[in-house]
Amino acid sequence: MGIKQKNKPLNRKKIPNSTILGQNCCMNVLVVGGAGYIGSHCVRQLQEAGHHPVVLDNLVFGHKSAISPDLTLYEEDLGNRSKVEEILINERIDVVMHFAAFAYVGESVQDPLKYYKNNVAETIDLLQAMQNCGVNKFVFSSTCASYGIPEKMPMTEDLPQSPINPYGQSKLDVENILKACAHAYGLSSASFRYFNASGAAEDGAIGEDHDPETHLIPLAIWAAQGKRDQLTVFGTDYDTPDGTCLRDYIHVDDLSRAHIAVFEKLENPGQCLFYNLGTGIPASVMEIIKAIEDVTGLTVPYTVGERRPGDPPALYADSSKAQSELGWSPKYDNIRDIITTAWKWHQSHPHGYDD
Ligand code: UDP
Repeated sequence: MGIKQKNKPLNRKKIPNSTILGQNCCMNVLVVGGAGYIGSHCVRQLQEAGHHPVVLDNLVFGHKSAISPDLTLYEEDLGNRSKVEEILINERIDVVMHFAAFAYVGESVQDPLKYYKNNVAETIDLLQAMQNCGVNKFVFSSTCASYGIPEKMPMTEDLPQSPINPYGQSKLDVENILKACAHAYGLSSASFRYFNASGAAEDGAIGEDHDPETHLIPLAIWAAQGKRDQLTVFGTDYDTPDGTCLRDYIHVDDLSRAHIAVFEKLENPGQCLFYNLGTGIPASVMEIIKAIEDVTGLTVPYTVGERRPGDPPALYADSSKAQSELGWSPKYDNIRDIITTAWKWHQSHPHGYDD
C-alpha cells in the first residue's frame, strides 16, 4: 500500500538527505507506528517543522485516516526486514522514529511472548535493517513503566529501573540494546520515557482512538457523554491527598516536539540519550474527573472499584534534563487545557476514526 518507487533496487551507497541540504534541514524521517496515537501527532509536528515524514504502520492499531493523504504510508509489518530496507534506501531516510509497540500492561502479563516478540525482537529487526542500510539515528518511545515502583518523586532519569510487568521490561530491554548498539556500531539514539500521553491536536483533526480503550481521560469523557457505562475509579485508598492515584498527564504534541528537538543531539555518532517527558505536575484520578466536568459541562458518572493490579500510587516526572539539554518545555502545563483538546477531538469524532 502506498509504495512509491516499488521496483527500485537497493542502493546501499545512499546519500542522506541531511548531508545534501545541511544538518537537520528537512530530515527524511521514517515514522514506524506513525498511524497510531503518538506517532500520528509526531508526523504532523514533523511536517510543521519542515521535515519529511514517511509512515510505516501495519494498521493493526493505527488508523489510515490519521495520516494526511499527501504522505506516503507503507502498510507493512516492522518485522519484514527486506521491505524495511527497501524503504530506508528508496526514501533516503536520515532518522527512524519508532512508536510501534503493544502497550497493554495487563495483556503483557498474560501473554509476555507476544510483547517480547513485537516490542523487542521486531525492534532488533528494525535496528538490523538500519545498520544494513547505513541509517544511524534512532528515536525510541520508551516509558516511565520502565522504572517500576520508583523510589522517589519526582522521577529523574538516574532512578533504578525495575519494571514490574513485561511491557515495561520490553521497553527497558530495547533501551539496553540501544546502549550496546551505540558502543558497538556508533548508533545514535534517544529514548523518551513518556509519562501519561493525553490530549489531541489543537484543531481536533487527529486524536486518541484505541481499541480497546483503557486510558482514564477517554474513558471518563465517554462516560460523561453517556457512550458507555460509568467510569470505575481504581482505588481510593492510596496514600495520596485524595486517595486516588497521581499521574503526570502530558500533551501528545509536547511529547512530539521533544522528538524533533533531539535531532541536533543525534548528529554525533554513538550518542545514547534517555529523557523523561512529563509536565512534572501530578493530577489525581478525582482531579481528572473534576477537570473533565469543568471543561465539558457534563457530569462524569463513576463508581469506586478495587485497585488495578500493578498501579503505583504516584508517577510524575522531573523533566529538567530534557528541558536543559533539548531546550524543550511543555506548552501545556494545565490539565484543563489538555482536556480541552481531547474534548474537541471527541466532539468532532463521536465514533473515533472512520477506519
Ligand atoms: N484509571 C481509573 N479507571 C479507569 C482507567 C484508569 O481509575 O478506567 C486510573 C488508573 O488506575 C491510573 C490512572 O487512572 O491511576 C491513569 O491510568 P491510565 O490507564 O490512563 O494510564 P497509566 O497510568 O496506567 O499508564
